[in-house]
Order: sequence, then C-alpha cells, then structure tokens
Amino acid sequence: NVADTQNNARKQGQLNGNTSIEDSAAALKKYEKGLDVWIQDETLVWVQATVVGTMKDGRIIVRVGPGQDSVVWVKGDYPQMCGENNFVDTEDLTRLNPLTEPAVLHCIHERYKQGEYYTTAGITLVAVNPFSTVPSLYSQAKIQLYSSAQPQDIKMTRDLPPHVFAVAQQAFSNLSRGLGSQAIIVSGESGAGKTWTARCLMRYLATTSAGKRLPGQRTPTSIVKIEKRILDSNPILEAFGNAGTVRNHNSSRFGKFIQLQFNRSCHLVGASIQTYLLEKTRVVHQAQGERNYHIFYQLYHGMSDEERELLGLGGEEEEEEYQFEWLPTDESQNDRIDINGELSPFQDVIPDRTTTLPLVSFPSDDDWSSFAITRQAMTSLGIGKCQQQEIFMLLSAILHLGNILFNSEAHDDGCPCTIEEDNQRCQQSLRTVCSLLGVNEDALGRCLTYRRITAAPGRRKSVFMKPCKPAECVARRDCLDKLLYARLFNWLVDIINKNICGEQADWKTFVGLLDVYGFESFPENSLEQLCINYANEKLQQHFVHHFLRAHATDRRIWTMAHQGMPLLNFQKNEYEEEMIPWDYCHFVDNKDCLELIEGKISIFALVNEECRLNRPSDSLQLADRIHSTLGDSRHISRPKSIHGQAAFTVCHYADRVTYQLEGITEKNKDAVPEELVELITQSGNKFVSSLVGDMVGTEGATSKKVRTARTVVSKFKGSLDKLMHTLESTSPHYIRCIKPNAQSRPGVFDRRHVHCQLQACGVLETVNISRMSYPARMAYPAFLERYGIIMRTAADQATSSRSSVSSLSSLSDENLDTENLDPQELLRRKNQVAAGGTPGTPGRRRRRRT
Ligand code: ATP
Ligand code: MG
Repeated sequence: NVADTQNNARKQGQLNGNTSIEDSAAALKKYEKGLDVWIQDETLVWVQATVVGTMKDGRIIVRVGPGQDSVVWVKGDYPQMCGENNFVDTEDLTRLNPLTEPAVLHCIHERYKQGEYYTTAGITLVAVNPFSTVPSLYSQAKIQLYSSAQPQDIKMTRDLPPHVFAVAQQAFSNLSRGLGSQAIIVSGESGAGKTWTARCLMRYLATTSAGKRLPGQRTPTSIVKIEKRILDSNPILEAFGNAGTVRNHNSSRFGKFIQLQFNRSCHLVGASIQTYLLEKTRVVHQAQGERNYHIFYQLYHGMSDEERELLGLGGEEEEEEYQFEWLPTDESQNDRIDINGELSPFQDVIPDRTTTLPLVSFPSDDDWSSFAITRQAMTSLGIGKCQQQEIFMLLSAILHLGNILFNSEAHDDGCPCTIEEDNQRCQQSLRTVCSLLGVNEDALGRCLTYRRITAAPGRRKSVFMKPCKPAECVARRDCLDKLLYARLFNWLVDIINKNICGEQADWKTFVGLLDVYGFESFPENSLEQLCINYANEKLQQHFVHHFLRAHATDRRIWTMAHQGMPLLNFQKNEYEEEMIPWDYCHFVDNKDCLELIEGKISIFALVNEECRLNRPSDSLQLADRIHSTLGDSRHISRPKSIHGQAAFTVCHYADRVTYQLEGITEKNKDAVPEELVELITQSGNKFVSSLVGDMVGTEGATSKKVRTARTVVSKFKGSLDKLMHTLESTSPHYIRCIKPNAQSRPGVFDRRHVHCQLQACGVLETVNISRMSYPARMAYPAFLERYGIIMRTAADQATSSRSSVSSLSSLSDENLDTENLDPQELLRRKNQVAAGGTPGTPGRRRRRRT
C-alpha cells in the first residue's frame, strides 16, 4: 500500500516520507522562487505560502502570508502546488487547477463565507449545513428556476448553480427521459444535514411531479392524497425514530431508504420506505446530555389533562407531574439552535395548501406543537383515533416500565429478587404498566424476576424456573421495553407503507432517497458502529465502482490495481495513442476491508460463530480468535493503547476505528426470552399482542442455523445486500453533507473538522482519483496559441504542433522569451505549466468539459 501511494505521489511529484536523492532533487526543482504553494498547518490544515527558495539539503523556505516571517519547510513534507485559479471562486471543484486537497478545502470555505453552501465535486454535490434559515435558498423562485429546466435540456440543468434541487431535477429529468430509476445517496456525519436534505429532495420531487400537470388540468384527488401522505410520513418517522443527541438536536437513530414511485407520466403515485437498524437501546438508556425519542416528550407535553390521566401520566399541575427514569430532560438541549418558527424552509414555497401540498413539518423545539403535527400526520396516514390511543397507551407503558425497580437486598439475603414493594412510584408504575399492556401483575413480575431453563431440549424436557440476579432482572425489563418499542416502530413503518405504496401496476420507475448514518468513530465503539461503518464501506464501494464506470464512458482512462492485479482497465488505448506513459492508477479500493468485515472468514462470521455455538461468551477469547484468524489482513490490527482488552482496530477507508468486543455477542444475538414473548402474546390488549404475533414459537427454535440467521449482523447484511442490489439498478447521484463545526453554530467554519469529513465521505478521495489522471485536455494548436508566447523563437513553433508542445513543456530558463514578457506574467505562466495543467479562464463560471 505504501508502495502504491509512493508510486502515485512520485507521479505527481509530491512525494512524502523517505525519498531517494534523485527524487528529492527532482521534486525540489519545481519549487522555484515566487511559486505559490499550500503548506500544512495545525489548525487551518492548509495555508497558502510563497516559496522564497530551496536549500541544498532539500528544505524549502516559504513565506506564509504577506509581511510575515519566513519559515523553513522541513524536508520530506513537500508543499502542494497552488495554481492561480485556486483562488478563483468556482462552483465546481473539478475546475480547480491544480486539483488538490488544500484547493478543495479553500474553495468550499470561501464559498461558505459568501453564503454559497452548495458546490459540485464531479458527480457529487457537497452541501455545507448553514445552521440557519436561508429563505432564498429554498424559495418558490428557486424551485421554479430548477424545475423550469426541461427534462431534455440536460445542459441547462447542469449550468444552473449547484443546489440540492439541481440534483433532484437531474434525477427527475433522467426519469422523464426514460433513463430508468434514479437514486440520490445522501451521506455525512451526524448533524450534517442529511435528513434536511432528504426532506428538501422529497418536497422538490413531489412539487415538480405535481407541476407536470398541464395548466388548468385538475390533479386527481387520489394523487394529491398520496403526495400528502408521503410527506406526512416524515413527521411520524422523525417523532418515533429521531432524538436529541449531543451532536444533533434532531438526530435520526435509524437509516432510511425511501422509494418515490412514478408512473409513466412521471406523476408521483406512491412510495415505500425501508428502515435500517433502529437504535433500540436509546429507549432504556440515554447518554449524558441526550434525550429519548421525541415521541415520548411529545406525548408527555402534548396531551390534554384527561388524556394524561388516562395514560397514567399524571396531571398538568407540577405536584402531580410524574417523573420517569427514561425521560431525561437535559438543560443543554435548551441551548440548541432555535428552530422555533422555522417550521419550514418552504414556507414561501408552497403557499397554497389546498391545491398542492401541506407545509413540510419539522419536529420543533416545542414538543406540544410537534405532537399536534404527529397526530395530524397519523390521521392522514390512516391511523385512526382509536389506534392512536392504543399507540399512546403502549408508549406510556414503555415509560412506566422504566420505573420498575428490583429489590437487590432480598437477593443479598439469599432470597429471590423481587420488584420493590416499598417504592410507591415503582408500585404505581407496575400497576399502570399491567393495566396498559393488559397483562397480569404476577405474571409480569415472574417474567421479569425468573428465568426459564429448559434442560435437554428435544429429548425428555425438564423445565424449571431460576430466580434472576438483580442485574438480570433489569436486563429482562430493558429487553421487554426495547422489544415493544422496536416492534411498534416496525408496525408504524408497515402501516405507512401500506398507506403510501402504489399498486405495482401503477408505477414504473422510482427515485430512491437514501438517508443513512454517516461514518462513526467514538472513544468506545461496539456492534452498532461496526454495522454503521460497514454500511458506509458498502456505499463507498458502490460510489467508487460507479465513479469508475462514469469515467469509462467519459473516455477517460482509469485503471485500478488491487494487490498488483488489475481489476478494471478502461481504454488505455487513448493514452497509448497520445504516447503518454501510463501505469495502473492505484487508489484505495475498500474491497479488502469489506471482505474482512463480511466475507466468508470475517469479523461477522466469527462474531456469528460465537452466537451459533451458544456458549457463555468470552470477549477476550473472541478477540484472540479474530486476531489469529484475520490478523494477516492489512485492514485489522491490535489496538496498542488498550493492551489486554478485547478489541480490534479496523482500518476503514475513512479512518481507523477501534471496536470493543465486550458484550458484542449478546448484542448480536439480540435474544428475547421466550417467557417475555409469551407474556405479551397473552396480553388482553389485542394491539399489544399482535405486535409480537410472528415471534411466537420461533424464539424457542434453537437450531444453529436459525440462531445464525437471526443475528443482528446477518439481518443487517441481508438488508444491505438488498439495498445494494436495488441501488445497482439505478443511476446514482451523490450528496455529501458537511457539518461546518461540531457545535452546530451558524457562521463558524472549522477547517480541520470539515477536512476530516471531506476525507471520511470520500470527497478528497474522488478529487485524488481525478488528480491522478489528466482531467484537463487541450488540443495542441490551442495549447500553443495560449502558451507559445513563452517560446524563444518563432522557429520553434514552425515545426509540428506536437513537437512544439513537447519542447514547450520541457522549457528551461535559457530558452524562455524573457524579453518580450512581463516577468510576473512569465512566472505566472511558467507556474501554470509546471503545475501540470491548463490554466482556468478567470471569470468563466460555467462548467465545461475539456
Ligand atoms: P443525523 O445523522 O444525526 O440524523 P443529519 O445529517 O440527518 O444528522 P439533520 O437533522 O438533517 O442532520 O440536520 C441537523 C440540523 O441542521 C437540522 O435540524 C437543521 O436545524 C440544520 N440544517 C440542516 N440543513 C440545513 C439547511 N440546509 N438549512 C438550514 N438548516 C439546516
Ligand atoms: Mg438525520
């Protein structure tokens, strides 16, 4: 890998690390006095500097900023070239010349300062979160501007300034032109604006498809209804699946792929939603400073007095207020961005609710008003008043379950653990839970405090009940709670789908919107992060393959080598025709890393094996097994900092992440004790019992095959494979959302934070790949016309244009026509030639293919 990187760097003359003397001399030659370069900086990542000179020992002296002291640039870390157009405002990063990491960062930063939040990066749109309402960004006029680009007028769509609407319009245009289904993949870290962007896309596509009707033509009521329902699914999913976290006050705790289904006339006729990996644990455990799911707060603050009474939530008066363990109210949440009154960036976009669509609804800070929106959305999606009441009863029961505590003293005295009898709140909650869930108090108590043990299953069964330790009782209570919430969430998704999904015969193509968690790396990472990062690896692979394919059709040459073996090799003839020496272009292909995670012999396989064997899990042993089996892979290593701990480090395409194995097997099993399932099945409340109906009898199935198939990673891999299969059938579009600062503040651009994200979401990788080939092309005569002025004699130009260009590109100082040229201009042009590309034409803003 190091060799690959050095090869590439050598090609670009930007060698880092150990270099041979010839290499250093060759590399140094480029750094002429007065040359503008980028040098690395602790805080700003890259800063602009000017070369003052080079030293014999290989050091380069640069001056940073005007009037400042010179600094000596250390040998080995060569500065990056900085072309003149690195400072020209460009809305397309691929027009930067030379196209380098610092230039990309600088460009995005400059645009941010000017209030330009969208930038094109090849086939990707980079969207920086403004963290403030920018009304003009999503105005009615903006929608009209983008939607007026006719489907066949692709050029016009391309020439419009980069915007999330431009991506949506491009997808819609492709659809209208019969180019098949489209997918828009939105990625980025928590709080970067994925969900916001997905909402904007949804809204735009719904509006545009509605706008396709001819003037005066009435929209069929059924279509208006379906559009409204599709948009109404957002507040419900966000109420039940989003929560306030330290990184985002409205963080989606699940992944979502929504297919917007269009008929032959490109009218939106339905949708279907697939969700991934809801964070169940949040219901029973919220990290410091974080909240439970929005719906609990909405319920708690949004219900009328009588309703609260009915659900056992206490009265409105303060002394009657009920305290819930699982309803943390965190003061820091009050400091978050005020989105009150910012109900919609579309407020002026769709003024007429009756003829088109309702305003998009966001969970606002005000739980009370959000609850009204959630209820209204439920009604719109066919969830009647009675059913809503059943849902709220279940939610209240879930909250009350958290207040049930266990008597550890009894256990210390050698007696079976019981539910605390002296704790009034606990007892009251127990009664409320039983009444709301329709289960018997004794039965619930027994289920929570005793564990059923079946000896010798299959032969002569002997079943007995074993008292649980207090920690086990708590785990069983939490397990029941998570089960109920996850089942409720899935039920809601099913109901939504039933109400929004078009008849298969009605729709032909779709636009898929993918909003999944971004890459995660915390001080402590577990199964959840492994799954999330695995999903991101999958999406990255999809992106890379698509990117390569796109370039192949663009008649550019891309070769990819993987451990010396070419995987793809497109059209090398063009380079050969031009007599350009070519080599395989190596770049980070994450195939190996994916193989390590999901392959036949992989992390997933070993973690599953542990579940299959159904033995008491030992995380240290599992760690040893992982390292001894997979240690040969260059993508896995033993974490150095936590010696003796059960952990492993994976080198992902975005970053290195250390995963702790403690508890990972249990999480992967995600087992629910049969007794709990039986208890819920026997509930007198039909709605509650129906939630676990399909689990009856299956939990007890103990065959090894069934156990493996049911693990979290197996299920997740299965659903992701399906998703990838679907994405393969579409033309993808990519939006990379960027969070400008960790504090979610408007007007703050933390360059280091942004740089990390550009790296993690693959924008820099894309740019690097582009840089490795020759992204700019010019015909010889055009090149000569532009640069011929620096040739000493006209005779040089008299030969064939090809040989002239050849001599021009190997110019040395002696044969420069210095007399006829202003020295500054001469230097500028030389630098441009040295930087290896054609200079951009300043002021030309539109993207043009060269
Ligand atoms: P998570 O992964 O945690 O779900 P996310 O990427 O989905 O995060 P969002 O919830 O979409 O992030 O955005 C976070 C917040 O940033 C929004 O609630 C909103 O306040 C603000 N925001 C995002 N995009 C925009 C935008 N284009 N204009 C104004 N505010 C925005
Ligand atoms: Mg989100």
